[in-house]
Amino acid sequence: SAKKAGRGRFDIYRDGMLEEEARRRDFERDLSEAIASNQLELWYQPLFSLPDRRLKGFEALVRWRHPERGLVSPAEFIPVAEECGLISAIGAWVIDQACHQASQWPDELYMSINVSAVQLRSALLATQIDQALRRYALPASRIELEITETAIVENSEHLAVVLAGLRAIGVRIAMDDFGTGYSSLAHLREFKVDRIKIDRSFIAASQSDAGSAAIVRAVVSMARELSIDTTAEGIEKEDQLTSLQALGCGTAQGFLLGRPLMIGAADELAWSLRSGRIPSIAVA
Ligand code: C2E
Ligand code: MG
Ligand code: MG
Ligand code: MG
Repeated sequence: SAKKAGRGRFDIYRDGMLEEEARRRDFERDLSEAIASNQLELWYQPLFSLPDRRLKGFEALVRWRHPERGLVSPAEFIPVAEECGLISAIGAWVIDQACHQASQWPDELYMSINVSAVQLRSALLATQIDQALRRYALPASRIELEITETAIVENSEHLAVVLAGLRAIGVRIAMDDFGTGYSSLAHLREFKVDRIKIDRSFIAASQSDAGSAAIVRAVVSMARELSIDTTAEGIEKEDQLTSLQALGCGTAQGFLLGRPLMIGAADELAWSLRSGRIPSIAVA
């Protein structure tokens, strides 16, 4: 009977696995149809300069509007897309859409585009960016690409070539979620990133945790010495904003200043730049 019970457990385990696999297959199949079915959307989170709190640009953030599941977060589907190879198509769609949108907005605004480690492995990336810039007559200076530290560690040799190609086109490179990955400081110098985005976790903890506050101070001052711009991610409180401003952090992003916006609201914010109603702080 012990044998029987064991076997029962195995069956349940196996059925669970099969169910999990089936769910995963459905998810991948749906995702593969998402682009053709127009289910992907870009939302845009505003980026503000400090200390003047002027609108400088937007970060494009993808969402998947699934007919049954509702709005699916990129944190959920981007990792799946990376594993099953769909990230190339999704990434290409994001680049095209984001460049198109940037071309519709005032020249003084830039667009920041997230690029996955998988996209960075391919020489196709530079071609896609170049084509999108030409298609929409967009100057390269209007575009910034956000890459993660992990992407840099994963493919250091080949990466130098890909980044050189992007640099030749003239787009800027930002290191996203800085401080959370496995990168070394040498990479900042080696790959000549234009911007460091200090991860939200350090900003969130900096008020209560002296260690996090010290890291934020050190990163901002190191970046200044290296002539690298800094963006603080995930600012939710006024006191976080004032202390980053005091440190000399140049750009701020977070729910306090503005949440990711759907295209209509983003468009309105972008054009309020020119209408005289200068968006200082757009409290969400
Ligand atoms: P990320 O690039 O670090 O983007 C910032 C994330 O932090 C966004 O989540 C944004 O909504 C969220 N955020 C911004 N300010 C605050 C704040 O004050 N508080 C809190 N709690 N959160 C804040 P989102 O849009 O869910 O994106 C999650 C991640 O998915 C992104 O992190 C990025 O790694 C990835 N992602 C999003 N869009 C794309 C894309 O087009 N391509 C690729 N490869 N990855 C993407
Ligand atoms: Mg990002
Ligand atoms: Mg980020
Ligand atoms: Mg992040």
